[in-house]
Amino acid sequence: MRQMPPATPFDTSALRDAGLDDKLHEECGVFGVIGVKDAANFVALGLHALQHRGQEAGGIVAHDPEQGFNSARRFGYVRDNFTSASLMETLPGPLAIGHVRYSTAGSKGTTAIRDVQPFFGEFAMGGAAIAHNGNITNAEELRRELIERGSIFQSSSDSECIIHLMARSLQKTIPERMKDALRRVEGAFSVVAMTRTKLIGVRDPLGVRPLVLGALSDGAFVLSSETCGLDIVGAEFLREIDPGEMVVISHGKVESFRPFEQRASRFCIFEHVYFSRPDSILGGRSVYETRRQIGIELAREAPVDADLVCPVPDSGTPAAIGFSFESGIPYGMGIIRNQYMGRTFIEPTEQIRNMGVRLKLNVNRALIRGKRVILVDDSVVRGTTSRKIKEMILDAGAREVHFRIASPPTAWPCFYGVDTPQREKLLAATMSEDEMRHHLGVDSLKFISLDGLYRAVGEAAGRDPAAPRYCDACFSGDYPVAPSDMLNKGFTLKAAE
Ligand code: SF4
Repeated sequence: MRQMPPATPFDTSALRDAGLDDKLHEECGVFGVIGVKDAANFVALGLHALQHRGQEAGGIVAHDPEQGFNSARRFGYVRDNFTSASLMETLPGPLAIGHVRYSTAGSKGTTAIRDVQPFFGEFAMGGAAIAHNGNITNAEELRRELIERGSIFQSSSDSECIIHLMARSLQKTIPERMKDALRRVEGAFSVVAMTRTKLIGVRDPLGVRPLVLGALSDGAFVLSSETCGLDIVGAEFLREIDPGEMVVISHGKVESFRPFEQRASRFCIFEHVYFSRPDSILGGRSVYETRRQIGIELAREAPVDADLVCPVPDSGTPAAIGFSFESGIPYGMGIIRNQYMGRTFIEPTEQIRNMGVRLKLNVNRALIRGKRVILVDDSVVRGTTSRKIKEMILDAGAREVHFRIASPPTAWPCFYGVDTPQREKLLAATMSEDEMRHHLGVDSLKFISLDGLYRAVGEAAGRDPAAPRYCDACFSGDYPVAPSDMLNKGFTLKAAE
């Protein structure tokens, strides 16, 4: 019998505290389908492909002309919930949207079922459901205002503001109400929404988070956070939703609107480094190829004499392949990841905590012994995992350990839909590169430069400080949208330091 996950909130911070998870986390993935029989099944597959964007919980809303709107929200993986025939039978109809979440603003680290999206609202002109990827940076301000005017919030999520703003709009149609609502919202949003007859996709004016459009046969369409979500349902990739664009899809037609003031886009550069799946296409570029190119740039910027290039699996793998290619130093799988770590130890006991990173990663001793090893990782956040990995490599008999990091030092928190520790917990916010090298206890430590990262994503001239093409705030402190709520709480911007 299939073991169902517990129907209680679970707290991923325990995993983090145990030093088993020292990554930034994308907080959500969104997916929607219109024009197929049993659209919810397609959404479940799409969410499964987007599971790397959020593993704490998922939800699906479907609409059927006879049975109306139905929804299901569950904790845990999509495969453990939305594969149950008895559950999927409750979600009939040709139109459905879904959402996977890590934990968004509101209940950091602990998800409550009421915070699991999609959110649903019943309006005079019919129901609507929305699924949001990103983070609303003025949500607290909006929430206060909405509550003062009588709105009753059901969740602690910033995304629920959109539903309440729609409820207060005087526009006659749901897409028009969404435009009204989203014009009040600041920050990052890629939204997939649905009415009884329409599938809607919107990206914020800067296009911080991704959203793509695909086509199935016979006038059916798909919206997905990433192209890997299209691949799993056999949809053809048509295009990205443009920054600041809203698409409304019904009766086999896609209409495009530009509800916001046009601005230069600032797509999240970290999607290229880590968040997106390597088999996705972002901005016309293969994520895998970009990551390999990052490794090539890193080898040019920070060469070192060594015997072996090893990725910290899995996210460091393409960059390690690029580093090895450029440097001519052999590539090897010096660290093996336990694929089945999953949620098993999500609430580790003291004994398990002491095992630390060994639960997740193991060293390939036969390969490592006696070698000078270059470890390639995607990022260093708190440095907890990096220290433990270094110890494992030395225990296995390595002669030297050199870290090469496929992103610049992460010195600033993200306020646009990525779970980041407070600034003072970020290693790079409090230490110089040399201090970090000492702290990690490695022979050398080098990060790719911001210019090098821009070159790897296709900007041959590097970063233009006057008009950067990407959001890179977690590296540069240059926030493309002022994080209003955080500023109200005393957060200091770089310019004010
Ligand atoms: S701050 Fe960093 S993680 Fe957040 S959107 Fe910008 S580049 Fe991406």
